Amino acid sequence: MNAVIPIRSDAAGCGDPIVRTEKGQREVFCGLTGIIWLHRKIQDAFFLVVGSRTCAHLIQSAAGVMIFAEPRFGTAIIDERDLAGLADCNDELDKVVHKLLSRRPDIRTLFLVGSCPSEVIKLDLSRAAERLSRAHNPTVRVLNYSGSGIETTFTQGEDACLHALVPLLPTLPPGRGKRLLVVGTLADVVEDQMRRLLADMGITAVDFFPPRNSTELPEIGAETRYLLAQPFLADTTLALESRGAQRLAAPFPLGAEGTTAWLRAAASAWGIDPDTFEAVTRAPRQRAEAALARQKVHLEGKKIFFFPDSQLEIPLARFLSRELGMVLDEIGTPYLHRKLMAEELALLPAGSHITEGQHVENQLDRCHAAAPDLVVCGLGLANPLEAQGLTTKWAIELVFTPIQGYEQAADLAELFSRPLRRRIKLAA
Ligand code: SF4
Repeated sequence: MNAVIPIRSDAAGCGDPIVRTEKGQREVFCGLTGIIWLHRKIQDAFFLVVGSRTCAHLIQSAAGVMIFAEPRFGTAIIDERDLAGLADCNDELDKVVHKLLSRRPDIRTLFLVGSCPSEVIKLDLSRAAERLSRAHNPTVRVLNYSGSGIETTFTQGEDACLHALVPLLPTLPPGRGKRLLVVGTLADVVEDQMRRLLADMGITAVDFFPPRNSTELPEIGAETRYLLAQPFLADTTLALESRGAQRLAAPFPLGAEGTTAWLRAAASAWGIDPDTFEAVTRAPRQRAEAALARQKVHLEGKKIFFFPDSQLEIPLARFLSRELGMVLDEIGTPYLHRKLMAEELALLPAGSHITEGQHVENQLDRCHAAAPDLVVCGLGLANPLEAQGLTTKWAIELVFTPIQGYEQAADLAELFSRPLRRRIKLAA
């Protein structure tokens, strides 16, 4: 039986968000998928998946449309072998890495990304990374993390990657003054917009993590205040806090309201006066609100059901209900980090239903019973659900597309209105 746990027990009770925890078969991508957006962001890094042919196929098909001249990811395929063959396996890995690095002198950081085949699990990739780092020091740094489907859902790959980078961040010397660290991969265009808005308010000591170049890692210390740009970075936040950084609690920068609250958290920490904040944010906020009003026509009153996938589900549900008038049915999320999500949970409509984890058959039954207008789910569920007459939105698109900030608010709304409009056209 599934446990149902109220998030808050203080208020009236029946109006509180309710969390159901479920265990069972899951339908989610593994953490290797994060390589697709990470390799585009960190432009001097290479992601070498140590895995099977399945892993190579996954990464190729997920990235297929985005491959340009020389991709900055690849797969070292480890075929079946027994334990006695492990020494050879390490030799082969070293050979692959040496060959890659001599052919690609632009690489400054190489990530060895672990996967779940048993042959790979037997390999100690952290020792391999240390060995290869010594061999290629100081030109190339070799790190490792796991993107294995046993350990990670798809956005957790980014968490694991950033977590591996935190120990390398230089220490911010005390007395240098506060610095703001924006944590989580943002498209460059969004990063530029955020940097401009913060600078216009007077906040100029700003770094982004991950950076565009792996050799430009931001300094970190007790005077670091960090804002999360992505909700799926639980391990990274713990590592940052162990280095002295303090989180600025805020909703995530999705929609006009979320972006304003997110920027306001930084403005408050920097003592920016409310008039300056209003003067800087008014025009882009009003532009976003006007653009959202045009999308609201298509979305208001429509019922939406989220299967767990990206960990973006709760901030998206908040945005879609508060700014676009959508009706929330179930909000599935692979994990619920109550501390990181506290500001989002407080903004959800009273009585919202959240499911943490997944038992896909039970969830499919509930989805069919709810008969939502729109279902947000992974690729594996989308086609069967479409065939059964439901309208779907692929969760993965929400991670690949720039959706944060004022200028992207309407684009984000359009990702949800487009499938609904398409369904209406097909029915006409
Ligand atoms: S689930 Fe495991 S085997 Fe499949 S692609 Fe991901 S890491 Fe590779």
